[in-house]
Amino acid sequence: MKSYVRGPSLPLIEKTVDEVFRGTVAREPGREALISRHQDIRLTWTQLEEQVGRTAAGLWGLGIRPGDRVGMWSSSCAEWFYLQLATARVGAVLVNVNPAYRAHDLRYILECSGMKALFLQEKDDRTDYHEILGEAREGAELSLRHAILLGTSSWDDMIAAGVEPGESPKDPNDVVNIQYTSGTTGKPKGVMLTHRNLLNNAYLVGRAMNWRSADRLCLAVPMYHCFGSVMGSLACVVFGATLLMPSAVFNAAAVLEAIEQERCTTIYGVPTMFIAELEHPEFPRRDMGSLRTGIMAGAPCPVELMKRVVGDMHCSEMTIAYGLTEASPVITQSSTTDSVAVRVSTVGRVMPETEVKIIDRESGETVEVGTQGELCTRGYLVMKGYDKDPEATARAVDSDGWLHSGDLATMREDGYFRITGRLKEMIIRGGENIYPREIEEFLHEHPKIADVYVVGLPDERLGESVLAWVRLHSGETATEEEVRDYCRGRIAHFKIPKYIRFVDEFPMTVTGKVQKFVIRQKEIEMRQLAAVAGTETA
Ligand code: AMP
Repeated sequence: MKSYVRGPSLPLIEKTVDEVFRGTVAREPGREALISRHQDIRLTWTQLEEQVGRTAAGLWGLGIRPGDRVGMWSSSCAEWFYLQLATARVGAVLVNVNPAYRAHDLRYILECSGMKALFLQEKDDRTDYHEILGEAREGAELSLRHAILLGTSSWDDMIAAGVEPGESPKDPNDVVNIQYTSGTTGKPKGVMLTHRNLLNNAYLVGRAMNWRSADRLCLAVPMYHCFGSVMGSLACVVFGATLLMPSAVFNAAAVLEAIEQERCTTIYGVPTMFIAELEHPEFPRRDMGSLRTGIMAGAPCPVELMKRVVGDMHCSEMTIAYGLTEASPVITQSSTTDSVAVRVSTVGRVMPETEVKIIDRESGETVEVGTQGELCTRGYLVMKGYDKDPEATARAVDSDGWLHSGDLATMREDGYFRITGRLKEMIIRGGENIYPREIEEFLHEHPKIADVYVVGLPDERLGESVLAWVRLHSGETATEEEVRDYCRGRIAHFKIPKYIRFVDEFPMTVTGKVQKFVIRQKEIEMRQLAAVAGTETA
């Protein structure tokens, strides 16, 4: 039996985000749509519609028109949801920007997305975003016309100058969102996703959890990532469920408090977040009794951790999802009716209207059941392409429409999948994706550094952490702290290497290619990380 499956057929949503949103407002006018606890905002669907209407008018007044790109660079907040729906209403393309980005990262996104407007928070306890934007803009030729600071008069002015927008575009195959990810190689690329991609993925994810409008989601994951803005907010729009933001950035105590006080039924997180919640001193004192289901995803999910979430966190119908941004994102997910044993140890089965095959990387042939290979998927969920990069798109999506994930997986005879490794050179640290090449290129700019290679090391709490092997120019000396200081404020904090080792040479193949797996193996031995490396995951 070959490792190929096609999920069940069912009618997909053939509407735009705005059409689905308006339908939900009409169906559930008085039910709570959004609760942003740190902003003290609680809105029914009717009230959310008012906010979205005003925001859409504001965008139109700024001169935003169908097809224009509009960036959102902020941690979780009510405005994130308003903008997501308002950009869709006016036919603009929302560009998600990671709030952890610093000047170097931000400039890259501003340049390649060609965004016309950027929404950002002014500052928080740790960061002055406005200042970073200033640095990122310095000397760059950008199409950016408007930088709107959330919660300030620039936002109020935009709303005040609102103009009734033109009619909403009606084609579900239009691009509505660009999310940056590196794909299987290289620098971050803009993944172009359509209404049809995103709404249907959101719908199928909620369906797998058996969602109803009475469900209340505690969203611990950030909105900039598809986990937050597709499986989170858009799924709430499709089902009329309540979106609850416990805090601006992840805070385990705030999550636990929100679940108890708001009687949440659903919890989302990457493994690192669940570890922090279960280990928090408040955990035993908080009532988790309202929880029923949820999703763990984004990184390999340890079996033992899943068991604790099902048992100790009262998530008897907890699921695991697997996917990637290019697949809108979810490809496989367990369902609430799967046995606990299957739900904690696999990433579930193929979603409806989705095909999956596992291929041999060398021959491209579909492998036998139980054999490891690269997971590929096809169907409504495959992205429209990488923005302005047809070559990279052709490498990721072949001529038959198969998206190559860069992940290694096995399929069982009963159709359940396990993720067994990664072909692509990506590090996932606490759910944040890191592309070694990007850090290497950045460190190459350091005047003392002659050469550098970055790999991921196993980490008990974060899944993986960043290690850099650095060769300095001859005669130079440097300290680890010096290198980290150079990174601080320039690149996102999660990209800064935790471990740095200064070396004179790198392990090479005979053809002169650096053997990163040897670097990793050596470090695992030297740092005694073998047990962590061997953690069993779904
Ligand atoms: P992103 O595009 O940020 O959603 O990252 C996608 C990548 O995260 C995938 O290609 C996988 O390498 C990894 N990933 C996502 N979900 C899982 C999972 N459940 N188990 C293992 N790895 C996962």
